[in-house]
Amino acid sequence: MEKFDVTIIGAGPGGYVAAIRCAQLGMKTALIEKYPSLGGTCLNVGCIPSKALLDSSEHFHNALHNFKEHGIDIPEPKVNIKQMIERKRNVVKMTVDGINFLMKKNKITVFTGHGSFVTKNQIEILKADGSKEQIETAKTIIATGSKPSSLPGIDIDKKRVITSTEALELTEVPKHLIIIGGGVIGLELGSVYGRLGSKVTVVEFMDRIIAGMDGALSKELQRVLKKELSFEFLMKHKVTGTKASAKEVTVSALNSKDEKVEIKGDYCLVAVGRKPYTDNLGLEKIGVKVDNRGKIETDDHLKTSVDGIYAIGDVIKGAMLAHKAEEEGVFVAEQMAGQKPHINYNLIPGVVYTWPEVAAVGYTEEQLKEQGKKYKVGSFPFKASGRARASMDTDGFVKVLADETTDEILGVHMIGPRTADMIAEAVVAMEYKASAEDISRMSHAHPTFTESMKEACLDATGKRALHI
Ligand code: FAD
Ligand code: NAD
Repeated sequence: MEKFDVTIIGAGPGGYVAAIRCAQLGMKTALIEKYPSLGGTCLNVGCIPSKALLDSSEHFHNALHNFKEHGIDIPEPKVNIKQMIERKRNVVKMTVDGINFLMKKNKITVFTGHGSFVTKNQIEILKADGSKEQIETAKTIIATGSKPSSLPGIDIDKKRVITSTEALELTEVPKHLIIIGGGVIGLELGSVYGRLGSKVTVVEFMDRIIAGMDGALSKELQRVLKKELSFEFLMKHKVTGTKASAKEVTVSALNSKDEKVEIKGDYCLVAVGRKPYTDNLGLEKIGVKVDNRGKIETDDHLKTSVDGIYAIGDVIKGAMLAHKAEEEGVFVAEQMAGQKPHINYNLIPGVVYTWPEVAAVGYTEEQLKEQGKKYKVGSFPFKASGRARASMDTDGFVKVLADETTDEILGVHMIGPRTADMIAEAVVAMEYKASAEDISRMSHAHPTFTESMKEACLDATGKRALHI
């Protein structure tokens, strides 16, 4: 039986990054992935394919609605969904090929098959052809990720009632796409099809979309999606069921007055969150504990209840984000090597890749109020930015929350052009405990979207913004 210092189960961004770092630190490393394609949810059916379609659909939307204003006259563009999906597949393939290369480069042994514990130090790999292989391992990292959740009364038939996975592979543009859940997946994939011409109805249980983010972001994003893509929002509606026929789907919900509402469309995307995936891992056999939501329990060092077994990414507590999983992969590897790494969970940014993009890090205004913290607010609207006017991206703003006494930045919340990239400045600033004044005294290239961050910091530092 082949012996390894460490075995990682699951080759998503948590698992493959953990494998690379373990190998870099000199450990003999095995990586087990049940699908032939490495990269997990993120590369195959998550971050990368959704961004590929967001980019393609954004080009189409601009060609249709904005080129004329820029002085570019073209015949009316048409959607070629087959080519769009094909390009997306190529982007995924190139990215997955890159991971295969990295595994070889780092001399990581990759096993293709379903991994499960036989004992705490023995793992069985069940291959697609039914054959089995066992390996021995000193330590294990569980990185088995997550799968889409559903709701009682909803039958996901993967044809008319679909999850994000099927929504990334549609062969036609829906006429009316009903989306259950106004969270990240619903709004990103809703944007893709809204831009391509679908009527989009979002049915959301809460009174606001992207509920975990600062309320000002939810409000602005909802306003822009209504204005730009004619999204219809049914807020405070609890979905109770779906009924699909060959060509149609009916979604039933209860509104805030408990009245029954029915919505008819040709596709329904269920985007009500994701659940940890630990099926047939053999956790019970070796005593790894899970909580009441099925997440593997870990301590501050990401150790499970069994010595030598760690867990990272979507399968444990915390945000279900690729970069969070990656940080945890590196953290566990370095810890195993005797180092003392650290993750500041409060400074893991969150991004929604709609247009305008939404990005945030640190505390929201709601959280600061709840903590009873005294804070100052600085904000700057993109309509006052020359760069944003030049690119016709004037919706949105940057909002900076700073400690009232020390001026330390406590949270940054942005909605606007390229804020997914702009948020990095806020992360650096907050990691180094910068004050709003620190940022406002640093030169930001002109004209750039990033000047809006500087201006929001100036606004927080005694209302000194220069361009509002
Ligand atoms: P996963 O990526 O889920 O990988 C787990 C892997 O383990 C899978 O490949 C699975 O096949 C394998 N596995 C499971 N059990 C076994 C077993 N027993 N044996 C062998 N292999 C096993 N996050 C972002 O940060 N940014 C984004 O833009 C973003 N966009 C997203 C868009 C969509 C549509 C979706 C669905 C998700 C998106 N996410 C995004 C979330 C992101 O994909 C996840 O947070 C991330 O993939 C979690 O990484 P992970 O390594 O924990 O698990
Ligand atoms: P989510 O938790 O973001 O949103 C789910 C929404 O569904 C919530 O607003 C919730 O109130 C609503 N909901 C739940 N039950 C309902 C009901 N009965 N009727 C109506 N609405 C209901 O989940 P998601 O959008 O499915 O995304 C899953 C995960 O994937 C997220 O944790 C996210 O972090 C990750 N993801 C991240 C990105 C990104 O980083 N850009 C993109 C996509 C997905």
